[in-house]
Order: sequence, then C-alpha cells, then structure tokens
Amino acid sequence: MKKLLKTLVPVALAAAAFSAAAQDFPTRTITLVVPFTAGGPTDRVARDLAEAMRKALGGAIVVVDNAAGAGGSIGANKVARAAPDGHTLLLHHIGMATMPTLVRNIPFKVESDFEYLGLINDVPMTVIGKPGLPANNYRELMTWIGQNKGKINLGNAGIGSASHLCGMLFQSAVGVDMTAVPYKGTAPAMTDLMGGQIDLMCDQTTNTTGQIEAKKVKAYAVTSPRRLATPTLKDLPTMQEMGVKDFNVSIFHGLYAPKGTPAPVLKKLNDAVKVALKDPEFIKKQEGLGAVVVVDKRMEPAGHKAFVLAEIAKWSPAIKAAGVYVD
Ligand code: ASP
Repeated sequence: MKKLLKTLVPVALAAAAFSAAAQDFPTRTITLVVPFTAGGPTDRVARDLAEAMRKALGGAIVVVDNAAGAGGSIGANKVARAAPDGHTLLLHHIGMATMPTLVRNIPFKVESDFEYLGLINDVPMTVIGKPGLPANNYRELMTWIGQNKGKINLGNAGIGSASHLCGMLFQSAVGVDMTAVPYKGTAPAMTDLMGGQIDLMCDQTTNTTGQIEAKKVKAYAVTSPRRLATPTLKDLPTMQEMGVKDFNVSIFHGLYAPKGTPAPVLKKLNDAVKVALKDPEFIKKQEGLGAVVVVDKRMEPAGHKAFVLAEIAKWSPAIKAAGVYVD
C-alpha cells in the first residue's frame, strides 16, 4: 500500500498542478506570431482575431508579433520552437499547405510540430495593377501583357506566400513569364505597386479592397469561382469568366500552437476561437473585406488538421509541376 501511495501521490499532484495551470491559463500576455509584415492581409486577420479572442478569453492580452521573412517559414519555425504552454501562437495561411513541398530544407514539420486550433477564414484574391497601367479591364490587361512580354514585374510576399502561389498560377494561365519581385509581405509590395515601382500583383481581398475602393490600384479579376458580394468587388469578373478554366485560389488562415501544448489549454484556445468565429463584429469586419469566416467542422482541431493535410496533397502536384523550390 505504502509503495502504491508513493507512486500515486506524485502523479496526482502533477495532474492537479497541470489542471490548475490550464485553469489559470492564460497567465500572461499571449503572443500571436504573424509570419508576414504589419499592415498586410495576414496581419489584418490576426489583429481582428486577437481582438475577438481577447474578449473570448476574458480580457487576456493578445499581442501580434510580425516575424516576417522567407515566405512565412521564419515565423512558423519560431512558433514550432516556442514553449508549448499556449502563450505563443501562430496565425498562418495557405503557406502551411504549400511550404512542405516548396521549401526543400524546411526546418519544421507542418504535420507533426503543431497543434491545430481551428481554421479562421477563407479569403479570395484579386489580380491588381499599378494605377498608371493603360488597361482598364481584364481583356485590356491581356493585350497590355502581350505587348510587354519580358518587361513585366509581379510583386509577391516571398516564395511560398499566397501572392507567390497565385502569381505563379496567373502567369501559367496567361502563358507569359513575369519577373517576380519578393517582399516580406504584401503590405510593402502594395506600397510599391501604388507607387508604380512594380506592375502587377495577386493579393488577398483583405489587403486590396480598401485600395481598390480608393482607386489607388487597378483591379482586373477575382480568383474565386463566383463573383464576390462585397460592394467594392462585386463587379469584378472571375478568372473563370475570363476563360481561365478551373482557376480557383482561396487563401485560408488557421491558428496553431507548438506541439505538446497541454490538452486543457488547447481546449480553452479552441473554445475562444469558436467564440471569435461567431462574434458579429469579427464577422462583419472580415466580410467587409471579402473574407468568409469558417462555420464548418474545420473550426475544430481535427477538421482543421484534416483540411491542411488535404491541401498539402492538393497543392503538391501543382508546385512540383511548376518546379519552383526554395532551399
Ligand atoms: N500573407 C502575406 C502577407 O500578409 C501575403 C501573401 O502571402 O501573399 O503579407
């Protein structure tokens, strides 16, 4: 009996301490790592989510840390190596599905180095151009591209980013090679596009809607299979309408914690995600920017993970066929 107690008591104490820790969570500021620059599309989603989660976590402070670079893999690696206590989280996008194929020496495993906390949104993209472009619609853009072969610059947020993926698919759809100009996010790329330093970009509506509305850039098409309801974007044709069969690029964002984060902490975080996803203010902000907030089983960790694994399988052949790799 004595022997049994000797074994059981420490286990019980550890379990009690563990659940107390989970109960008290969060005990300090939560850092939400965004692997792209401030002011860009992923940052935008993160800041709206941080606000909604703050409310859901009883006022806990959630700060955004922009760990930008290498198409989003620097920030992802930072979180994969962080203490698994729930206080360091990652908001990442479709890069989680493209990096495993694109980045040859990826320093972490998307499949096994993270806990999945729920998918947040799906965001369509827009094909946009610098304000001085003579083309005023998609057909005129095709003519301009045809006349300027070899001279066109296409901005992106780094190899592996959403804008890079969309830009690759766009070039292959129009059959013209363009010079990729990588930035650490599409916020600085947008500044250069508006200034006319680069010609074109394919970027998420969460970053482009305001600039399109303010007429600071020209907009040519949306990448979703259907037109968007957002007033600023509703007149833009889809790439499919413009004759590009099957063109459909939608960028999802999801929330992740380092592998090994205690289950009760994960549950608290996933509960907070689900409260945020139903928060009318969060939904309104996201919908105003063309994003669709997740309402299906992907808001659960298992559904989120299954979706990312399916997306890895979906994008892998396209990336291999394009032959673009990062070392
Ligand atoms: N998500 C990137 C950003 O926030 C953009 C991209 O991936 O294209 O800047």
